[in-house]
Amino acid sequence: MSSMTKTTAPIPLSSKPQGSADHGAKTACIRTFGCQMNVHDSDRIRRMIQDAGYAEVQRYEDADLVILNTCYVRENAVDRVKGHLGELNRLRREGRVKRVALTGCIGAAEESATLRQTYDIDLVLGTHNTYELAEFVGLPTMQETYTPELPGTEGGHNAFVTIMTGCNYQCSYCIVPTVRGRMACRPMESVIREVENLVAGGTGYITLLGQTVDAWRHEGKRFCDLLEAVSESAPRVWFTTSHPSNMEDRTLKAIGERDTIVKRLHLPVQSGSDRMLKVMHRGYKAERYRRKIEVFREAARDGTLSTDIIVGHPGETEEDHEQTLRLVEDCAFDSAYIFKFSPRRGTEAASLPGTVPDAVVQRRFLEVLRQVEQNAFTRNQRKVGGEEEIYIRHGSTEDGKAIGETWSGHAVHVKTGAAPGTYMKAKIESAGPHVLYAVEPGTRV
Ligand code: SAM
Ligand code: SF4
Repeated sequence: MSSMTKTTAPIPLSSKPQGSADHGAKTACIRTFGCQMNVHDSDRIRRMIQDAGYAEVQRYEDADLVILNTCYVRENAVDRVKGHLGELNRLRREGRVKRVALTGCIGAAEESATLRQTYDIDLVLGTHNTYELAEFVGLPTMQETYTPELPGTEGGHNAFVTIMTGCNYQCSYCIVPTVRGRMACRPMESVIREVENLVAGGTGYITLLGQTVDAWRHEGKRFCDLLEAVSESAPRVWFTTSHPSNMEDRTLKAIGERDTIVKRLHLPVQSGSDRMLKVMHRGYKAERYRRKIEVFREAARDGTLSTDIIVGHPGETEEDHEQTLRLVEDCAFDSAYIFKFSPRRGTEAASLPGTVPDAVVQRRFLEVLRQVEQNAFTRNQRKVGGEEEIYIRHGSTEDGKAIGETWSGHAVHVKTGAAPGTYMKAKIESAGPHVLYAVEPGTRV
C-alpha cells in the first residue's frame, strides 16, 4: 500500500484469452475500479462471462462486450469511469465494441441514469443485482449473486472471501451505505466451507473481505471466532477492512498469537481530532484509537499498521489537522491511504458548511503524506540486514523482480524466479518508505 490517493488500476488478467476476436469467439473485457470488494465482484462477473462462452481479452478494441465494474466513493473515481465511457463510445461508433455494461457502485447511485443516457450504455446494474448480468450474457436467470468457490483473483494462489456486505455506519462523508446497503453477514459454516474448498484447490492465501469485517457477527459468534476458525483451515490469512469501534483486543491478540495470520492491521482512523471524528460520526475518540494501536503493537511487535485518513473534510481547522499529524506520529503507521475530501451527493458532508480551500487541502495532504512516509521509512530501515520468510504474491515481471510479503505484512521486491504462492527466504538489502528490497540469501550484489 502506498500513501496516495487510492485508485486501483485495471486488474491484471491472469490468463490470455482462450479465443480471440479474429476467430469469431465471443470476447469480453472487464475493467475494475476501486476497492478489493470490487475486485472480488469482478471475479464473479468473470465466472459468469466464462460460463456464457466469452473469452476474456485485455483491450477494449478486442471485446464484443465491455463491462466496467465501478467505484463511487470519490469524485475522481467517477471522472475516470467517464473517461473510459467516452473512449468506449468512440470504439462503438467505429464498430469495434458492440455492447457496454456498467456495474458496481456507480450503477447503484442516482447518477447512473444520467450516465446511461449520456453514454448510451446497454446495461446498468448496481451492487445488489449483479446477477442480472447472467441473463444479459445469455445464461439462465439466477436469483442470487454468483458466488461460491471462486478460483481466487491472483491465479488461484490468493483468494478473497467475502464475509459480510454493506455497512451499518453512517459516516458523514461516505456513500457506501447508500450503494451497498445495510450490513449482512454470511454464516460461519458457509465461510469455512468456501475457505476449505479454496485451500483444497490449492489456494495458499485467504483474505477475508468486507466494509467493516470486524463488525461480523452471526448466531452469537463474533469476528474473532470466525478469524480463529479460518486461521485453522487456511495456511495464510489476512482481513480488510476494519472499523476501530468494532476492533476487539482479543482479535488484536489473535493476530499476534496465531501463526497463520499475517501480522498486518488496516485500521482506518480518518482523523486525529476528536471534534472531526464526532462530525464524521465515527463513534470513537482519538485516545481510544491510540489504545487499540498500543494493544496491536504489543501483540504483534514486528507487525505492520496501515490506515485511511481524510484531509479537508468540511469544517476541518488547522488545529484539527495538527492533531491528525500528532496521531500519525504517535501511531507510526507503516503506510496510509490519504484522501482529499470529495463531496458525494446524498451524504451529510456534501452540504456541510466550512469548505476547506483546495490549496489548503493540498498542503495538508502533503504534510500528512510526509509524516507517514518519514515514519514508514524509519520503521522499514530496521528490517535491513535481516532474513525473512516471504510469500510470493506476484511472480517476477520483466525486470526479474517478484513481489512478496513477510509474515509481518511488509511488501518485498525480490529478484527471484520463485513461483507465486510459494515461500522463500529473502535477505533484506535496503528499504524505501513503501517497500523492502531483498535478494535470495547467498546472492552476491
Ligand atoms: N469501511 C471502511 C472504513 O470505515 O474504514 C472504508 C471504506 S471506504 C470505501 C475507504 C476509504 O475511503 C475510507 O476509509 C475513507 O478514508 C475514504 N472515503 C470515503 N468516502 C470519502 C469521501 N467522500 N471523500 C474522501 N475520502 C473518502
Ligand atoms: Fe463508509 Fe463509514 Fe461504513 Fe466505512 S464505516 S463504509 S467509511 S460509512
